[in-house]
Amino acid sequence: MSNLSAENPLPGGMGTDDTIPPVWENRNLIEAGIDLEGARRLFKRFHGFVPLSRLLELSAVAPPETDAEVNLTANLDSAADRRLLRVWGSVACLVRRVCARCLTEFSTRLTVEVERSFAPGRDPAAADSQQEMVEELTYLPDYRLSIPAMVEEELLLALPMIPLCHPDCAGLCSGCGVDLNKDKCLCVERPTEGPFALLKKLKTV
Ligand SMILES: [Zn+2]
Ligand SMILES: [Zn+2]
Repeated sequence: MSNLSAENPLPGGMGTDDTIPPVWENRNLIEAGIDLEGARRLFKRFHGFVPLSRLLELSAVAPPETDAEVNLTANLDSAADRRLLRVWGSVACLVRRVCARCLTEFSTRLTVEVERSFAPGRDPAAADSQQEMVEELTYLPDYRLSIPAMVEEELLLALPMIPLCHPDCAGLCSGCGVDLNKDKCLCVERPTEGPFALLKKLKTV
């Protein structure tokens, strides 16, 4: 079922996904998606970008500094009663983060290798014991895959839990608070007591 003919094409000759030009130009993919309603087979390429203004969820955690670069291929295969949409390729974006150790802002490029499987419709879930869970499937209850939503999801999942400006960032001194990447700690001069100091003395002998 398709009502594409009733829709007006986007301005500037930039069509919907059904009118991908033969040459893979850098397209704005803000409206890109795959409509799986009634589709049995399809093969599509999404080469272009998702504007950073569309990446609102990402902005809240790691504000993007560039549009997200997208290079994805999608293939729908129908076997017997089962339809499987595979999407693979890469997604990349330059984002801004705050280092968990030294609290400095830094830019980092996220590059994600994408390999996802989608099934149109609702998750038949527990009721169907015949269904083997051979791969991680994402069900699409509304029979549509939104490319910008998927791109943003992939970028969010690729964010490291603990952002570091550098793998061996020295962080801030818990005593004097100086950034140990830039300055010398101001509290080492103080006389230290206890077993640790003793151990240090023994070591220097
Ligand atoms: Zn740091
Ligand atoms: Zn210190």
